[in-house]
Amino acid sequence: MARTVNTGIDPHALADPAVDLVRTWLLRAQENQRKNTQKNPAEDRLAAVLQDPNGLEFTVGFVDRVVRTEDTKAAAKALQDIATLTPQSMPATDRAQIQAGTALSGVLPSVVVPAARTRLRQMVGHMVVDARPGPFGKSVKALRLHGHRLNINLLGEEVLGEDEAKKHLADAEGLLRREDVDYVSLKVSSVVPQLSHWGFDRTAERVVERLLPLYETAATKGTGKMFINLDMEVYSDLELTIEVFQRLLNKPQLKNLEAGIVIQAYLPDALGAIQRLSEWSGQRVADGGAQIKVRLVKGANLAMENVDAEMHGWPLATMESKQATDTNYKRVLSWLFHPERMRGMRLGVAGHNLFDIAFAHLLAAERGVTDRIEFEMLQGMAT
Ligand SMILES: Cc1cc2nc3c(=O)[nH]c(=O)nc-3n(C[C@H](O)[C@H](O)[C@H](O)COP(=O)(O)OP(=O)(O)OC[C@H]3O[C@@H](n4cnc5c(N)ncnc54)[C@H](O)[C@@H]3O)c2cc1C
Repeated sequence: MARTVNTGIDPHALADPAVDLVRTWLLRAQENQRKNTQKNPAEDRLAAVLQDPNGLEFTVGFVDRVVRTEDTKAAAKALQDIATLTPQSMPATDRAQIQAGTALSGVLPSVVVPAARTRLRQMVGHMVVDARPGPFGKSVKALRLHGHRLNINLLGEEVLGEDEAKKHLADAEGLLRREDVDYVSLKVSSVVPQLSHWGFDRTAERVVERLLPLYETAATKGTGKMFINLDMEVYSDLELTIEVFQRLLNKPQLKNLEAGIVIQAYLPDALGAIQRLSEWSGQRVADGGAQIKVRLVKGANLAMENVDAEMHGWPLATMESKQATDTNYKRVLSWLFHPERMRGMRLGVAGHNLFDIAFAHLLAAERGVTDRIEFEMLQGMAT
């Protein structure tokens, strides 16, 4: 039987109040910045580099080809290529260092490449945490001092082989067993190599088998002590990730475990996915199970989706424009923000767009679901 939901306020009416709210936040942030004397020069330098037209290409090239390439000679050759993209916005001393490094890299790669890697680490140190147990523990302690809850994201892309997948799982398990970690993110493509979407059922089962021990560890750690999140990457993994998430949480031994999943609003499928999760999680809670957590993001793999569509001659999986994505984000919030639709789920409003955050904040208050939502940001992206 269809139920009628009173949708309350028209979301359009919140546009102007959201803009006003953003204005007050920005004024307060400026005020805080003025008071804050602890400037981070490395952070300012990275921000300047990224504003340059060549900045992103230079930084990504540097990380992928100089820092991550193990062979120092190959890394030195990459440094020579990338140096041609050096952003003019970089301080003259940094540009001179790059020039000198490039000139020497052919004859002294074993000196130049480690020095270049150290320099980059200094620049991104505020964004990436050292994963070695000692420094990691210290960083976690410092970040939690102000009462923030941390989501530890074990970086890693789609794995190509069995060994890599097993290592990724073992690293995740290691994190889960730490007393100072209570939130870990994983991707289905990082735990099973070569996912086949043709044998959907069998593939889902393979992923479930791989992940089940981790979820069981989380369940035994005690309610609220450990949270596992399934991140979303490419469109082709959307249905598989939802299926794996539901199969795992339908297991009797995981009935009381709260776990999370990410939905990307740049996909036209986002609303349908949220509607299914809302219905299923409502039933889970009605049956005495734990709630779930959904993180709503816009989606970070636009370039990959473009390449995939172009290479295969397929229609683009994402919305046709930024405006359409922004609209879809608000469409999902507007549908979901009703107490009865959020009976079984909490929502993480994840993003750095202050207008969307303000809109979500105001709409949640209007619809009486403030206690069902939280706001999530990425460390180092914005203050
Ligand atoms: C805490 C946190 C966790 C995250 N986890 C994930 C995750 O698991 N998976 C994931 O994919 N992303 C994740 N993201 C990143 C997120 O998807 C966005 O890429 C990022 O937050 C930028 O969006 P915004 O709303 O902050 O900024 P905005 O500047 O308002 O929006 C930028 C976004 O708009 C969309 N967009 C831009 N141009 C176009 C276009 N031409 N056509 C269609 N859409 C367009 C893209 O999604 C782009 O990322 C996460 C972000 C945060 C803060």
